[in-house]
Amino acid sequence: MRNIENCSGALHPKAIEGLRLFNAGEFFEAHEELETAWREETDEIRDLYRGILQVAVTYLHITRGNYDGAVKVYGRSLKWTRDWGDVCRGINVKKFREDAETVMKEVERLGRERIAAFDLSLFQPIQWNEKRLWLCDRCGSEMYEKNCKVTCPNCGNRFDCSDLNLYFD
Ligand SMILES: [Zn+2]
Repeated sequence: MRNIENCSGALHPKAIEGLRLFNAGEFFEAHEELETAWREETDEIRDLYRGILQVAVTYLHITRGNYDGAVKVYGRSLKWTRDWGDVCRGINVKKFREDAETVMKEVERLGRERIAAFDLSLFQPIQWNEKRLWLCDRCGSEMYEKNCKVTCPNCGNRFDCSDLNLYFD
């Protein structure tokens, strides 16, 4: 089992870019951004980035009719995507795994000869909450945003979201 501590906090900016591209069906570009996030990240969360990038490569292989490539890379991705909680850093990992599994069941059903008939609408977007992480400038705690108010649960420090550009840029 993974250390769930790694599931709190923010995603690497390149990982966010990768998820956007993945959801736009730009699997090659998604793989490149996620690879950068994987290389730059020192935390264990890099393994999840690697798993998602391998699923992006799997989907790319499917769009190119490469059955063997898809099966091989998907097989490799499993060890990196399993053992995380259902939601990690705002990513719905459970749904992501299930969607990929559905895709691969269909790929296997079609087989090597008929993979060109794969229905691309089976590619589901990755669900994630884009949560920006704010740290309190007084006590260093993680702050929460709700209805345009950013509040520190520890010391009560507060900003209005309209002030944030002045504060954090
Ligand atoms: Zn505080």
